[in-house]
Amino acid sequence: HNTVHKKIPGMKFDHILCHYSEIGLKGKNRRFFEDRLRKNILEAIKIRCVDSSVSVKRYHGRLVIELKQKGVDLDCIKEALTDVTGLAYFAPAFESKQDLNILKKDAHALFSDANFESFRITARRGSSNIPLKVRTVNDEVGTHIVDTMNKKVNLTQPDANCYVDMFEDKAFVYPERIPGQGGLPVGVSGKVIAMLSGGIDSPVAAYMAMKRGATVIFVHFHSVPYTTPASIEKVREMITTLNHFQFRSKLYLVELAPIQKQIMTETTPRYRVLLYRRFMFRIAEQIAGKENAHALVTGESLGQVASQTLENMEAVGRVTDMSILRPLIGFDKQEIIDRAQDIGTYDISIQPDQDCCSLFVPKRPATKARSEQLIKQEDLLNVKQLVEAGVASASFEIID
Ligand code: ATP
Ligand code: MG
Repeated sequence: HNTVHKKIPGMKFDHILCHYSEIGLKGKNRRFFEDRLRKNILEAIKIRCVDSSVSVKRYHGRLVIELKQKGVDLDCIKEALTDVTGLAYFAPAFESKQDLNILKKDAHALFSDANFESFRITARRGSSNIPLKVRTVNDEVGTHIVDTMNKKVNLTQPDANCYVDMFEDKAFVYPERIPGQGGLPVGVSGKVIAMLSGGIDSPVAAYMAMKRGATVIFVHFHSVPYTTPASIEKVREMITTLNHFQFRSKLYLVELAPIQKQIMTETTPRYRVLLYRRFMFRIAEQIAGKENAHALVTGESLGQVASQTLENMEAVGRVTDMSILRPLIGFDKQEIIDRAQDIGTYDISIQPDQDCCSLFVPKRPATKARSEQLIKQEDLLNVKQLVEAGVASASFEIID
């Protein structure tokens, strides 16, 4: 961030320029993407900054937020925009004009309260139909600042920057670009079911799916009454935090206890966790069907724990034809922790709870199970009945 301009006290921006990053979005797709991004921006500001009235206009290749000056809380809006997926960056800006004299005056105003020695002008235009050339703006406005403010140009490491953005018949000046989440707007990619435990990994996996535009529906399996309801409270809290990115969420709560009970009495201990997981996938698949969701998302990372070897993931995954997305597959634990801290779920994850599946886990779980071995174990269970009962036990709630 450009800290030089941040200290400017009396400066009142009248617009925020919003830029998305994905290239290759053309035609109908692009329109769909922009409309969704526009809706999400409005929604984020409406939910997070209740008193701030804004409108969002579409221009070629960008969206522009108009700040209605009365009661607009710019800091709040900045925070809200930081969490909007699909934004590459955004920039609080002043409207100017495609006129060299006015650009000079506005650049001067932008710099006038800033504390700096070196600067640069960074002009850009949306199309070659715009009469002013980028080079002309950079040269003329830059020279004006050198002459009137006695400052030096530094193109590579300036203390302060003045961006000049020209598109259609508009021009804006602004001091800094604030990075957004990147990715795609939540809602453009369809629905997925994220399997959310109380751990560190699964909320990060759900976030990754949101960041690529998926609408995430959550499923949590709990072991009440074998455990306290702590894990349920935890996932509710996690989802409240993840709602920064997706606004409102649906959470399914499913009883795993009856399934665990039968697995514990009938099967070989070393396969227990894998059998739990197979039931989770079966039940999640049914919920996906009801929700018209097209994939299951888990927080698994290759080799992180015994249940996440290639062999075990394969043997567990055999129970469903759905695609299983594992966005963290190549992440190290520390990388996952860093992400969790960034998105705000880490502190919730590390609160103690009783995980459904760490109960009665054997010392030596199978690390190379084959699907046939698990099917043999399942021959000892009433699989169909247990799955039906699990699905029937599912209740859902909306968290917003
Ligand atoms: P996490 O940190 O997400 O709990 P983990 O490293 O503890 O992951 P496992 O306990 O092996 O890994 O779980 C693997 C994945 O299975 C989780 O990331 C999650 O997607 C899913 N899962 C595990 N337990 C539950 C549960 N109780 N409810 C829903 N999904 C679960
Ligand atoms: Mg876990």
